[in-house]
Amino acid sequence: MTDKPTIGFIGLGIMGRPMALNVLKAGFALIVYDLVPAAIQTLQTAGAEVAASPQVLAAACDIVLLCLPDSPDVQAALTGEQGVFAGVRPGQIIVDMSTISPVVARTLAEAATRLGATLLDAPVSGGETGARDGALSIMVGGDAAALVQVMPVLQAMGKRILHMGEAGAGQVTKACNQAVIAVTMLGVAEALVMAAKAGVDPAQVRQALLGGAAASRVLELHGERFLEHNFTPGFRTRLHAKDLNIALEASRIYGAPLPATALVQQFFTALLARGGADQDHTLLVTLLEELADTSLVGPTD
Ligand code: NAD
Repeated sequence: MTDKPTIGFIGLGIMGRPMALNVLKAGFALIVYDLVPAAIQTLQTAGAEVAASPQVLAAACDIVLLCLPDSPDVQAALTGEQGVFAGVRPGQIIVDMSTISPVVARTLAEAATRLGATLLDAPVSGGETGARDGALSIMVGGDAAALVQVMPVLQAMGKRILHMGEAGAGQVTKACNQAVIAVTMLGVAEALVMAAKAGVDPAQVRQALLGGAAASRVLELHGERFLEHNFTPGFRTRLHAKDLNIALEASRIYGAPLPATALVQQFFTALLARGGADQDHTLLVTLLEELADTSLVGPTD
């Protein structure tokens, strides 16, 4: 037996599944839960136990991790009739790694405190690859002493783990992250599309830009997807649209205008209207291609 804490993991989607696998690989006992039975299969095969509800999971483990799509999902998993809060013990630490509203994150942290538990908001960046490689950036809001306690578990999933401030500060940081990615994606997409329309090979333009001041992870990773029209998620368009709404909500609350983010958010509204919710968010490039009446891929695509 080991003296390591037992970890519970709720939400085994594109991100949660590889993150939970890394927790298991690091030698922690793991109990998992997801609404969709198929999502659980990989973890069960790898040696995780399966809980019948978030309540049962919380009662059986020391630290609860969540990686769910949106604020209502986290609210349901925590405060629902068979939710985590129904099974939580005083002193227990819950780490929400989903990207949700900072306002909701703070409200849930207060509710956890009333139960004698601690809730940290700890959204992540780095995508499916970062999740698989245990190389995520993790942005944490909430009690600093609780973060020290859960640090060995977070280190199984991430490389850069920073305490950003009080409850909600992790989510504010993640909203900043998503705004930067969205605005950069739009810049890269429109530049590559202009190159194509001008008859200059956009793949070659990407290579040239990667060697200079315009280089970025977005140009590298998202730019490659733009060129390949590879829209298998990845990061679902519906989730990035959700994140831009979170950023714009923060913009209103804190009185800090995000004009460029607001523009990209309108493009995401168009992608959702056209049925792109479950395709990768790099689908954005298709709107720019249409506006310019050109394509980054050959006519056979
Ligand atoms: P996903 O849709 O692939 O997975 C979500 C999982 O949660 C699914 O398996 C679903 O069945 C499960 N679920 C939903 N509601 C539930 C509930 N109430 N109880 C239990 N399980 C429930 O989403 P994802 O891409 O893994 O993203 C998860 C979170 O991470 C989101 O907040 C997203 O914004 C964020 N994120 C995603 C990426 C990415 O590249 N995919 C990167 C960074 C952050």
